[in-house]
Amino acid sequence: MLPDVKNLIELQNADREIFRLKDEIAALPKRVAAIEQKLAGTKAILEKAKAAVKSDEAARRKYETAIQDLQQKISKYRDQSLEVKTNEQYKALLHEIQFAEQEIRINEDKILELMVNAEARDKEVRAAEAELKAEAAEIEKEKAEARQRTAEDEQQLAEWNAKRDAARASVNPDLLRQYDRVAKYRGSGLSEVRDHKCMACQVMLRPQTYNEVRAATHVVACDSCQRILYHDPSHDQPVEPAPAVKRRRPHPKFESSQAWYYRPSHGDDGEVFLVFINGKGESSRRIYESGAGRKLGDTLVREGEYRLGFPEDLSDSIRLNGQWEESEIDEWGNELPTSTLDSLQRDLDMARAEAAAPHTHGRREVVHSEHPAAS
Ligand SMILES: [Zn+2]
Repeated sequence: MLPDVKNLIELQNADREIFRLKDEIAALPKRVAAIEQKLAGTKAILEKAKAAVKSDEAARRKYETAIQDLQQKISKYRDQSLEVKTNEQYKALLHEIQFAEQEIRINEDKILELMVNAEARDKEVRAAEAELKAEAAEIEKEKAEARQRTAEDEQQLAEWNAKRDAARASVNPDLLRQYDRVAKYRGSGLSEVRDHKCMACQVMLRPQTYNEVRAATHVVACDSCQRILYHDPSHDQPVEPAPAVKRRRPHPKFESSQAWYYRPSHGDDGEVFLVFINGKGESSRRIYESGAGRKLGDTLVREGEYRLGFPEDLSDSIRLNGQWEESEIDEWGNELPTSTLDSLQRDLDMARAEAAAPHTHGRREVVHSEHPAAS
């Protein structure tokens, strides 16, 4: 991975952490405020319950006073009844006494009702008081936690800010400007490439772009979202689950119209894939970088089939499986499609594994040098 890209990944991590921490620091007072609001609600319920108890008590005193008044009236009537002269007067007083007694019973019923209610009211008050106490304790705990968390966040924020500054200082300024510009509009300036896709905008990359990102020789941006792209081989999905029975690698046919080779070094070009195609009395050669799949130089045509025409290209080479129509190869133009590149790379890996295994009897010839002098 390019050092600049590595630093940008660190910068992006720092940017994300800073954003998260700032968000968290801002959210904590809101959380405390929400609990305080709940606390105020519980306080209001308690006040209401207490007010109801008071108004019930006032009503009870009112009824009790009424009963006392009625009792006084009754005793006054009784006194008067001792002094009445006529039967009518006596009956009238008796009637007044009966009426007062009835009024007393009504008031007594109301008091009884209030007494029954009072038990429920008391329960309400006690429940609200208990809840208030619990909430008050909780809010103190939350506040203490919020204070502590905020202090920790502030400290982490300072650390991430330092990391961010360090990462920024070590990235090429032009690249940094590009990162900042894209990050400003899109929220992030960097995107991982996985499975031929830009993971941020989900657009498939052109094969050349994909190969360039994988080769990591220079910085490449997504054509679609402009984010700077990187590839992390450790995130590649396994091509296929390891089969229980090891698949055998087919042998490349010795005689075939088309032959692919790998060479660990080819002049100044480093690792390459070569393809030779035999025509009528002549053969052609195309060379591609094995990393990014870019075509190197022009297609070369020489007399005779390729083993005679290009003997110098065959030393220290590994013959690979591969067969594509020549017209298709022409269409590829200046780079191998990723699928071709992957297929050649897989075959190369298998050929190397075979060469490394000592007991693959009869299969060693697939990796031998095919210099014509040897055949
Ligand atoms: Zn993109």
